[in-house]
Amino acid sequence: MSDADDGDPRREEPAGTIADRLAAIHERIRRAGGTDVLVVGVAKGHPIGQVEAALAAGLTTVGESYVQELVGKYPSGWAAQGDAAVEMQFIGHLQTNKVRALAGRVDLVASVDRPALVAELARRLPGSRVLVQPNLTGEASKTGCRPEDLDGLVESCQDAGLVVDGLMTIGPASGEGRETRRVFAALRRSVDRLGLRHCSMGMSDDLEIAVGEGSTQVRIGTALFGPRPGVRPRPGRSG
Ligand SMILES: *Cc1c(COP(=O)(O)O)cnc(C)c1O
Repeated sequence: MSDADDGDPRREEPAGTIADRLAAIHERIRRAGGTDVLVVGVAKGHPIGQVEAALAAGLTTVGESYVQELVGKYPSGWAAQGDAAVEMQFIGHLQTNKVRALAGRVDLVASVDRPALVAELARRLPGSRVLVQPNLTGEASKTGCRPEDLDGLVESCQDAGLVVDGLMTIGPASGEGRETRRVFAALRRSVDRLGLRHCSMGMSDDLEIAVGEGSTQVRIGTALFGPRPGVRPRPGRSG
C-alpha cells in the first residue's frame, strides 16, 4: 500500500488485505440480496501489483478508465496469461482517437455513449462486446447519452455488428439515496425493456442500492484497492 501513502492522514486505507476486502464486498452484495453479481475491480490509479493481488484473491474482471494508463500499465497479452483469462473492461470516457489503442487489450467497452464512438469501435474493434451508457442523473458533467437517445444508440451498435451485453450508468454524485435508487431502477427497467442481459451499476458507496435495484455488475474501486493516489475523499462520499 506504500504507493498510496504520502503521509496525508485523511487518506485512509480500508482495513485488511485485498483478499479481506474482496470478501467484504461479496458479503455486502449477499446482504443486499444479490445472488449472481459480478465484481469489476476498478484499478485506475493503482499499480498492476495490486491488480494481481486481487486476481490471486479471486477477482475475475478488471475495469480501467484511462486509455493511457491501461496501455502503460499492462503488458500486451497480459489478460490472456495464466489459467483463467482475466476480463478487462474499459469503463471511462472514450475519445474516438484512442479506440485504436485498445485493440487486443479490452474484452468489453462499458461506456458507449455516442454514434461517433459506435462507428469507430465497429471499425477498429469489430464485433466487440459493449455496454451502452445513458446519463440518467441529468448532471451536465457526466458522460452518457441522453435517455431519449438510448434505444437508437443500442440499435446502432447492433446494426454495426457490436454485441450489446447490456447497459451501464453512474449514480448521482450527491449519493443521495432516493435519487440514486431512482436512477438505478430506471437503468434496470431499460435493460429489461430492451431485452438485454447486463446492468452495470453500483460503486463503492452505492453498491447496496444498486444490488437492491437489480445490478448484475458492480464497479468497485476504493473499497477494494483503497483511495486513489492523489484523490481526496469528497465530503459524504469516499469515491
Ligand atoms: C472510478 C470508477 C468507479 C469506481 O469508483 P469507486 O467509488 O472507487 O468504487 C466505478 N465506475 C466508474 C465509471 C469509475 O470511473
